[in-house]
Amino acid sequence: MMHVTDIAETARLTKRHGLLLIVDNTFLTPYYLKPLELGADIVIHSGTKYLGGHNDTLAGFLVVSDSELSERLRFIFKTTGACLSPFHSWLLIRCIKTLAVRMDRQQENAMRIAQWLLTHERVRAVHYIGLPSHPHYEVSKRQGTGFGSMISFETDSEETAIRVLSKVSLIQYAESLGGVETLITYPMLQTHADIPKEEREAKGINERLLRLSVGLEYAEDLISCAAPTIRWAGCGQKKSL
Ligand SMILES: *Cc1c(COP(=O)(O)O)cnc(C)c1O
Repeated sequence: MMHVTDIAETARLTKRHGLLLIVDNTFLTPYYLKPLELGADIVIHSGTKYLGGHNDTLAGFLVVSDSELSERLRFIFKTTGACLSPFHSWLLIRCIKTLAVRMDRQQENAMRIAQWLLTHERVRAVHYIGLPSHPHYEVSKRQGTGFGSMISFETDSEETAIRVLSKVSLIQYAESLGGVETLITYPMLQTHADIPKEEREAKGINERLLRLSVGLEYAEDLISCAAPTIRWAGCGQKKSL
């Protein structure tokens, strides 16, 4: 649902209670958000996503500012052997060199698509933190320098959602996020399939919700591949996923 946590406020709470604050910064990356500076103790990243950015490698990062904590974590991964191979390390280093330009262009595309979705008659809600109408727009602006390129949106019906998933062409219906290719997912059946129905729906993850990871393609091409599928939705087509 693209909710945003106030990290500095949360850090004040965890410090008062002697707890470590762990922030997953996968969506914004260090380019747009620096949780350690806001008081986090550990930052985790799925390197598989924006840091890798090409949907071709699996990796993860743990970042800390305290050397003692760093030694403790290092001991664990050194001992258990969960280390990245030289080839994947090389790929990641290479990919991070283009992180800034990818993030900026993907964000620009996301903004363009979020604004287009907002005006669409078959779209009920658009959750993108870069829209001033997002409830956490102010906190996002205050603590980071960008909004990223993850969008979720609610269509008017299950039929519309399914039609979009089965008919988009340039946009692929596939898991993962953060790569140069735009991917669309159906949270209800994928990322959130294990959550009990009532709990999932109470969180807003229903049969009408779709999630977009906006890539580097030309934004107008992405829109023109999605537009007809949304416009013609609900015209009695068979469900075909
Ligand atoms: C994908 C993802 C993970 C898990 O990362 P893997 O590289 O797939 O193991 C963790 N956090 C977030 C926010 C993610 O999107």
